[in-house]
Amino acid sequence: MSKTQVVKVKDIEIGGGQFVAIAGPCSIESQSQLDLISECVKNSQAKILRGGIYKMRTSPDAFQGLEHEAFNIVKAIKDKHQMPFVSEVTDPRQIEELYELVDMFQVGSRNMYNYSLLKELANFDKPVLLKRGFSALYDEWIKAASYVTSQGNAQVVLCERGIRTFESATRNTLDLNSVAYIKENTDLPIIVDPSHGTGVRNLVTPMALASAAAGADGIMVEVHNNPEKAQSDGFQALTPEMFDHLMKRINTLTQALRS
Ligand code: PEP
Ligand code: MN
Repeated sequence: MSKTQVVKVKDIEIGGGQFVAIAGPCSIESQSQLDLISECVKNSQAKILRGGIYKMRTSPDAFQGLEHEAFNIVKAIKDKHQMPFVSEVTDPRQIEELYELVDMFQVGSRNMYNYSLLKELANFDKPVLLKRGFSALYDEWIKAASYVTSQGNAQVVLCERGIRTFESATRNTLDLNSVAYIKENTDLPIIVDPSHGTGVRNLVTPMALASAAAGADGIMVEVHNNPEKAQSDGFQALTPEMFDHLMKRINTLTQALRS
């Protein structure tokens, strides 16, 4: 097993031994929504805020994100809560406008094979959170990361988010083999997204705990103050109370694993 390279997102280190939680809504919907969720997840010890500005939706009729309308919201909330922020870049043309706004670029599952996007991100000095394609082999995922790391930008964190299998009771099958495999075969930090990995709210906490036990460097979890009214992925969002409970259990587990 090689030593994990540390990736810094502002002053937060991923891969340095501390288990890092990234949390926030699937999509940014309004300033009051992001404000409330940020306050809650920060109080529960999440270290990085997430929130979709541009959304890659299966249906063109589904909510596509607030896009430019979200920019001022993000600025205001980052100012107020002082949390590093990660959001998905869905097109190389968005990189420059998002550069000032995000502290880490997220590349989504559907874009893992978008090599022109990856090559462009290699030119920027900003960390990249590279989600696994939902049918990608480990080797393809690692090579996708190399498009960024071998061409300039060494700051890549992998994110396991589940793969498509014959099982239909869950949205995806969360493949935690990948955590052990990536640790064994690369020096890249890896976090797990149990929200997309299960697509079922009540399965998120157990799989977050399993991710920590498997050796992940952190998790990314969707949290919403009113999941029933969420514009995207409400069915898998934790309430702030559920997220707080998850974090307390993660804390107990990671302390036990260290001792
Ligand atoms: C997300 O994180 O909101 C997302 C769309 O994830 P994925 O790309 O893994 O589907
Ligand atoms: Mn989502």
